[in-house]
Amino acid sequence: MLGVLLLRGAQTPGELKQRTERWHSFRSLDDVEEALARLAGVGFAQRLERRPGQKEARWMQLLAPVDGAAPAAVAELPPTVAEPAREPAPEPEPVAAEPHSLEIRDPATNRVVRSVAVTEVGEIEQKVARARAAQPAWAARTYEARAATLRAFRDLLEHEAEECAQLTTSEMGKPIRQARNEVRAVLERIDWNIEHAGAVVEARTVSDNERITYEPVGVVAHISAWNYPYFVGLNSIVPALLVGNAVCYKPSEHATLTGLRLVDLLHRAGVPVDVVHTIVGGGPTGAALVEADVDLVCFTGSYPTGRRVARAAAERLVRVQLELGGKDAAYVADDVDVEEAALAVAEGAFYNGGQSCSATERVYAHEAVWDPFVAALVDVVSAYRVGDPRDEGTDVGPLTRAEQLDVLDAQLADAVDRGGKVLCGGERIDRPGNWFAPTVVVDVPDDAALMRDESFGPVIGVARVSGDDEAVARMDDTEFGLGAAVFTSDQSRAERVLGRLDVGNAYWNTADRSCVRLPWAGRRHSGMGTSMSESGVRAFVREKAWHLFG
Ligand code: NAD
Repeated sequence: MLGVLLLRGAQTPGELKQRTERWHSFRSLDDVEEALARLAGVGFAQRLERRPGQKEARWMQLLAPVDGAAPAAVAELPPTVAEPAREPAPEPEPVAAEPHSLEIRDPATNRVVRSVAVTEVGEIEQKVARARAAQPAWAARTYEARAATLRAFRDLLEHEAEECAQLTTSEMGKPIRQARNEVRAVLERIDWNIEHAGAVVEARTVSDNERITYEPVGVVAHISAWNYPYFVGLNSIVPALLVGNAVCYKPSEHATLTGLRLVDLLHRAGVPVDVVHTIVGGGPTGAALVEADVDLVCFTGSYPTGRRVARAAAERLVRVQLELGGKDAAYVADDVDVEEAALAVAEGAFYNGGQSCSATERVYAHEAVWDPFVAALVDVVSAYRVGDPRDEGTDVGPLTRAEQLDVLDAQLADAVDRGGKVLCGGERIDRPGNWFAPTVVVDVPDDAALMRDESFGPVIGVARVSGDDEAVARMDDTEFGLGAAVFTSDQSRAERVLGRLDVGNAYWNTADRSCVRLPWAGRRHSGMGTSMSESGVRAFVREKAWHLFG
């Protein structure tokens, strides 16, 4: 069997999601070509072919847009010869075709900011091949030489910080003060990595006959989320480059300009052009990058996409690091200063419009402080200034992704149906762009979507508990495991509660915090693998054990 064709007849790329996949296998490439010719003008198709070194590999190809015609030719194709063995996919696969360019929209107005060419699949393969060819020479440089180049990058980023922050605000709607904070904070992360990565991967002699050395993984694919484009991108790119890898980086389609800018700065700082590449596009482009000849996939995004990435990478035993979603809970104990606790909880929930993987999305407040705490929380949230993210005074900007508005609408409708009471916000704001009013809902049962599924927006559910045991049980009753916060004046009480929770980040009197000195490792559906800290550097090397008996 020489070729395999996967067909998804559809009228538009969006519809592809809905259509059942059709697999057809062919005895010769001529038969494949003939089938493709018959499809032209009728549907979108994805062509799969063998490539050297792989059993099957993907070319994602937009063959022809449909002009309203029914995909009749799909039915005329020869019967399937052999069905490839596949697990049934629990979620629909991503769209198989990608437009040739990405329209970058300002989420505050919905106006198109720029159009950027998507990296075609063939080009992805070429970039990965060039990265593979360039990586050994980069790895052969001394650590100090690579560190000096990354330091030059850091200095350029600092020099152009304001422009970078503005760029991010224009494409993802992050309030400008918060965009500046992110750029400033990422400089510290780069500094930490430069200072510490060398020691982490230094060769170690462990006995007279035994030694451990650390070698770069090779070509790292980094596929990014958009919500903290500097943190998420550079948490991988910087340590990966420092220890001698090449990187193919696909920024999110919602933070592409930021991603292009970062790679431009890296090149200007002296990282060879073939050692770091930008891959532009959305889901199908990310999927094609995972299928390319890479050695490690670092993925940051949602749990459903992370599963798809892990599944695709597992086919070739390619290593993966997954930083996925969260549903962090906070417990407000009965000994807090309610006003301080309300401020901190609100900050954890609404910073970046609630679009943080570790945003506080559920609050369990002790019944003894319920009334004053809820009143203080509503006061803080109602006072947030919602508006143009370019304004210095804005606290909450638009949502980055328009689709998330539907998620919030559905979660709130369900919460209210189940007895939840909306104390502020609760609806979209009627203006162009993706606007949702900061929302506090109380008395939502734990099995409602608002308390179970990631909201990723300016919405928080608050529930009442009778004490620490009940708080622990309800906080831990989740599929996610990124972080949890406890607000109490008693540190040992906080540590006892946090010690019982199955999370990677334990917060006492703070929330939604990350720090390069500490490991970032989500549990359960929040991911696998660790970024930041020494462990986050080790993720980019392979160990070699030396057994030396002369
Ligand atoms: P997403 O899953 O929609 O997309 C993430 C990235 O994957 C994007 O670059 C996208 O183009 C790409 N992609 C989509 N389909 C793909 C496929 N089949 N194969 C390969 N790549 C594919 O997520 P998002 O909306 O960009 O980001 C929000 C999510 O990210 C939230 O769930 C959030 O919690 C999570 N997140 C987690 C962390 C963390 O550290 N744990 C940090 C930031 C964001």
